[in-house]
Parts: sequence; C-alpha cells; structure tokens
Amino acid sequence: MTSPFFLSVAVAAPLPKLFDYRPLADTDMRHYQAGLRVSVPFGARLLSGVIVSIHQAPQVDPAKLKPIAALLDSTPLLPSDLYQLGHWLSEYYHQPIGECLSLLWPLLLRKGEPARASKQNFYAPADTPPDPSTIKRAPRQVELLAHMTQSAHQDGCWQQDLVQAGFTPAIINGLVTKGFLVKQARDCFQPIKGQCSQTPLTLNQEQQHALTCIEQSQGFNSFLIDGITGSGKTEVYLQAIAPHVQQGLQVLILVPEIGLTPQTVQRFAQRFEADVLLLHSKLSDRERLDAWLMARTHDASTGRGQIIIGTRSAIFTPMPNLAMIVIDEEHDQSFKQQDGVRYHGRDVAVVRAKTLAIPIILGSATPSLECLHNGLNGKYQYLRLSQRAGAASMPELQILNIKNQAVHHGLADSLLPPIEDTLHKGQQVLVFVNRRGYAPTLYCPDCAWIAECRHCDAKMTLHQKPAHLHCHHCDSKLSIPRQCPECLSHKIQAMGAGTERLESHLQYKFQATPVIRIDRDSTQNKHAMETLLAPVHGGEPCIIVGTQMLAKGHHFPKVTLVIMINVDSGFFSADYRAMEKTAQLILQVAGRAGREKDQGVAVLQTEFSEHPMLHLLKEESYHALSLALLDERQHQHLPPYGFQLLLRADCHLPQEAERFLHRVRQLLNQHQQALNLPQLSMIGPLPAPMELRAGRFRSQLWVSARRRTVLHSFIGRVLPDIYALKGFHKVRWGLDIDPIESL
Ligand code: ADP
Ligand code: ZN
Ligand code: ZN
Repeated sequence: MTSPFFLSVAVAAPLPKLFDYRPLADTDMRHYQAGLRVSVPFGARLLSGVIVSIHQAPQVDPAKLKPIAALLDSTPLLPSDLYQLGHWLSEYYHQPIGECLSLLWPLLLRKGEPARASKQNFYAPADTPPDPSTIKRAPRQVELLAHMTQSAHQDGCWQQDLVQAGFTPAIINGLVTKGFLVKQARDCFQPIKGQCSQTPLTLNQEQQHALTCIEQSQGFNSFLIDGITGSGKTEVYLQAIAPHVQQGLQVLILVPEIGLTPQTVQRFAQRFEADVLLLHSKLSDRERLDAWLMARTHDASTGRGQIIIGTRSAIFTPMPNLAMIVIDEEHDQSFKQQDGVRYHGRDVAVVRAKTLAIPIILGSATPSLECLHNGLNGKYQYLRLSQRAGAASMPELQILNIKNQAVHHGLADSLLPPIEDTLHKGQQVLVFVNRRGYAPTLYCPDCAWIAECRHCDAKMTLHQKPAHLHCHHCDSKLSIPRQCPECLSHKIQAMGAGTERLESHLQYKFQATPVIRIDRDSTQNKHAMETLLAPVHGGEPCIIVGTQMLAKGHHFPKVTLVIMINVDSGFFSADYRAMEKTAQLILQVAGRAGREKDQGVAVLQTEFSEHPMLHLLKEESYHALSLALLDERQHQHLPPYGFQLLLRADCHLPQEAERFLHRVRQLLNQHQQALNLPQLSMIGPLPAPMELRAGRFRSQLWVSARRRTVLHSFIGRVLPDIYALKGFHKVRWGLDIDPIESL
C-alpha cells in the first residue's frame, strides 16, 4: 500500500492560502500533477481550482479533509512560463495565489468546462465529384451545387450559412452521400488569414537605427521607442516582428482598450502570410476560449506564423512559440487592471519577456515617466523617432485663450471661421471633448441647485438623445425635472458642454456639412463605429465630434484641424500624475491632425493659457515637459523615484471602511516600529476622491518608500495580520501595488 497523499489546491477565492484535499478514490499519485484543474467542494459550493502541489503532510487533521469532486484535466493546460507568471503575480502584487492563477484561464475553463474548441460542420467540394447529370432529378441539390460553385464559396461552406441560405440538412446530406461534398468538423473560431500583399516601406534613418538595434539584440531586451505620432513606429514593429513571423513563430501585440481598430489589424494582416487572432473585450466567452486554445496549440512546424493582437488580458495568452512582444501606446492607462488583481499589463509583459528570454518593444508618442526613466537610465534601450515619416509634418499646436472671448455651447466663436475655411478646402475637422452627453451639469441659476447623484458624490450628466439625467459612475438614470426641485424656478439650465451639445451647435452652424458624433453612446452597436466613420474615410468634408475614443489608433488622412475643448482641467488637479496624463492626451489628440500631405493645426481652447507647463509643451516638446516632470518627481520622491501602494476599502455603511483602515494603520505602525523602518511614510486613512460611489463609502491609505524591496517586504509582513482582523465582514478591501491614481 502506498502512503496517503494530499492535493494542495489554489481556489479562486480572496483568501491568501491554499487548501488541502484528498484525491479521488481509486486514483493514485500518477494521476496528479501540479497545474491540473480540479473541481472541489468549498463551503456549500463547488469551485474549480488548480493543483499547486502534492504532499504528504496536511496542515489539518487528514480525517477532516474532503476529497476533490473531480479531476478536470489529464495534462496541465498552462505552459510552464505562464504558470510561473501566475506565481510571480501573486508574489509581486501580494494577491491570493488562487485569484492570480484564475486570471490565466478564460472564463469557461475557470468554470470547469473541457478544453475543447467548438466545432461546426463544414462542407467542401469533393476533389473528384461524380457526373452532375446523376442528380438532374433533384433540383434543390442542383441548386445547392450551383450555390457552392459560386466564387465566394469555392473552398466550401459552413452548415449554418447553407441553412441560412435555405438548404435543409437533408439536401446537404444528399450531396454528401452521393460524393459531391465532403463533410468536415472544423473549428468555429477562424483566425484572420493574413496575406502578404504589402511590401515593407523603405525606412528613414531613425527607423532604420531602431530596427537595427532590435535585430542585433539577443535574448531578453526591452526597447522603448519614443516616437512622435505618425513617426512610423508601427512600421518599425512590423519590420521587427517580420523575421519571427516568417519563421513560423508567434508574436504578441498589446494595444490599449480602444486602440484595436480595423486599420491597425489590417496593417498586420496585409503584411504577413500569418494567422491573426484578435483578443478583446467584445469576444464572447466561447470565442475567447477558442482563440486561447488556438494560440496554445500553435505549431511552428507548419511554417505559418501567428500574430496575436489584444488588449490588456491578452498578456496571459498561452503561446508556445512566442518570439517577441510589442506594446503600442505603452503609456495608456487601460493597461492597468482596476479591480481584483490590479496588475499592470505592461509590467507583466516585461516580466514575461524576461522569463522567456525574448525581446519586448514598448512604443509611445508620449512615454510614461516610468518607461522614460528606464529608457534614460539604460534599463531599456532608448530609441527616438523625432520626425513624421513620409510626407507629413507635425501639426502646429496653438493655444487659444478664451478668457475674454465669446463662447457658445462650449466652442469659442472665433473658431467658426477656421472650421469653415478647412471645410471649404475639402478637408475635415475634429472637435475633441472628453465628456459625453449634452452637458456635465444641470443647474438652477436662482438657488444654485445642481443635479447630483443620490448614490455617488458626483453630478449627473444631462443627456438629450434620449433626454435624461445619467450618472456615469453608477449608471443610475432619472428624468429631467421641469423646474428646480429646491426653489421651483423654471430657469434650470445646462452648464458646460458635452459631445451632444457640440454636435447640435456645429450642425446648426454648418447645416450642409455632416457632423458625426463618436462617443460611447453613439457606438453601442457592434459595427456602429465603422458605419459612423464611413464618410470620414470616404474623404468628404465633415466635422467629427468625439471623446477619447478617437484619440488612438485612428488614421484620418483628411483631418487637418483639431480643436480640443476642456482638456485643461488636469492642470489644477491634486493628482500628481494629472499633468503627465493631460500632456499625453493633448499630444495624442493633436496627433490626429495632418497625418498626410496637408499641414495640420491643433488648437487648444483654454482659460489657463499662461500655465507654464502648457508653454513648455508648445514651445519645446513633450520630451522637455516630461524631463521637467521627472525632475519634480525626483525631488518629491514620487514614482519612478519612489514606490507606493494603496490600501482601498469600501462599505455601504458610512465610516465602516475608514474604521477598518484605522485598524490597518495601527497594524502598519506597530510593524514599522518593530522592524525599525523610519524611511516608510504613510498617509491616511482618507476619504477617496469620490467618497461615495455607487452607494458605497470609500476610504484609502497610502504607504510609500524609496526602495521597492523595503515596501514589498514590509507589506508582506503585515498582510497576514490584516487578513486576520475581525469584525469587518461588511467591508470590502484590496491592495493596489504601483497605483496609477494618486491623492
Ligand atoms: P506611428 O505608428 O508612429 O503613428 P505609422 O507607422 O502609423 O506611425 O506611420 C504613419 C504613416 O507614415 C503611415 O501612413 C505609414 O504608412 C507612413 N510611413 C511610415 N514609415 C514610413 C517610411 N519609412 N516611408 C514612408 N512612409 C512611411
Ligand atoms: Zn432653484
Ligand atoms: Zn451615481
């Protein structure tokens, strides 16, 4: 008899430990190994989890341990590098291992589904079909055969398409039985089949230098391409990945949440004879699993490379032949996960590249100060592209002071003639305003009442299409009151301007010109964005009014005038990152102008035209501004010269979250004294910037240190005591390592 053994299982639960189970009856050690999924009884529920180790010394009385409910896999699904990455996440972000490992699985696998791709029947024409005259008397079969010989269907058809075209399974099967068609079970999820139809461009000197540096490197290396918008970064990515793709290997391209436009995808699909897989938030759970499995089973020996383009969580795609990672718009905040395990996709990508000993390229027109710092101190190879590629030149940035100017519906009157001129020249105008809806505020001039959300410390946005008040933080909606609820005045009115208001104002002023509004409301349907943008790509004169959704990835060759409204609020924010974020936004948006031969102009409408940072940005560059900001950060020991973590707590009861963090603060103080770490600093608990949000009161506590290791080992020591705190079961709390928001 073999001695009893136990399985240590990571379960996706917010508890920082593993749980022991007994194996199934009638199984032995050979059936188990680390990395296999199991289903286990957990309280009253059945959860899936992953075996982390097999051992013979359980922490509790073995008689009390339950057996697992089922063994779900026979071989581990995750390649070892990803499994390692899961452990790294848990250690670095100080999050429960079960939650970190569960991040690596598509939802359906997390729910215990088998790791099988979905298949559907596909009918292909037989290589040597019988004589067609044999089916003369079956007219529907003749029709189906004719349908299949149409050029679009020559390779074959999916069953579902044939059924939709009116052919019953009986007709289809008739042709299969007679040998005209061959039935196959094919993967439902099909990658985009890339065609090698575009040749690489001849690089300019800076691009060539960047490419050479990348080509000459071996093993793990991080490259930061700091290149202005339109400087040809994407062209460098394409040529850098080319040798890998041509060898049949895999590459991973990470883009921001809103950067995955058809244009971006097309550029990759037209360059290589490779499969392109897209991973983004609009995939169904089934599609996501299918794509995941396809990446995981990629076979380099077929010679067909594979390009995966995805948003943040695509960094966890299993890729056995991964040869290079590219992160476009590295500075974008959507790479940071903002709930659960709050990982930063960019940082995780660098760690993954290091584990695999492969190169990683980080690109941006406005690098984050963290990456710039790494570029300047030599941790990353720093490559600059300072010119626009091809014939285009950078748009001129103009600052329009509106302090003593007539402004209507958010727009300075003095901007109407330049808009008219631009349209008259057959060009297009882009008006950027980072607020959707009609106006950010509804207010009463008689008593100063403002429409506020009942569940949040926030104003409600006024929408007109359709008319309602909407809180963008908790999604609650109200109808618009006819009179002031406080003083019954009938004068309540909109204050400020959002996309809807600018759209109707501009449509009124330019009645013969199409005005196209792009925001979250106008693009809810799946293909709405493409439909709305069709006239823009068609090239006719038009005005586009939109939010941040327009700031990235889009290439509008005919836009020569960009107007930015209300981007300057960041200059006076308490957030020390606000200036960096605002400058990035201004340049990203401005970069939409004049991307081809026509010179572009970007106008920033502001009441704060004297702001020194704005001057630095206009007269010098983002680079000069970021050096100034780095200098400030260094003096204040802020990231990247210092390290931070944030403890967040919230509760539907007032003051509960704060009470919890007070207890946490006491623990932190005790440990700090015991460990003698005077160099740590702590702030809080303090109410979060929006204390009440979606009905929950939020509080936060900051800890920072000059050295990362000090901060991390400190929190590692205190965490068990925080988990052990009693009497706060209504409080939700979480830890944010390297937070990107600030006080
Ligand atoms: P970025 O990614 O930096 O915004 P892109 O790679 O999209 O820049 O390039 C901007 C435009 O310039 C595109 O239309 C691209 O085809 C063109 N381009 C890029 N590199 C070259 C080059 N070496 N010669 C000519 N045109 C180029
Ligand atoms: Zn009033
Ligand atoms: Zn709300």
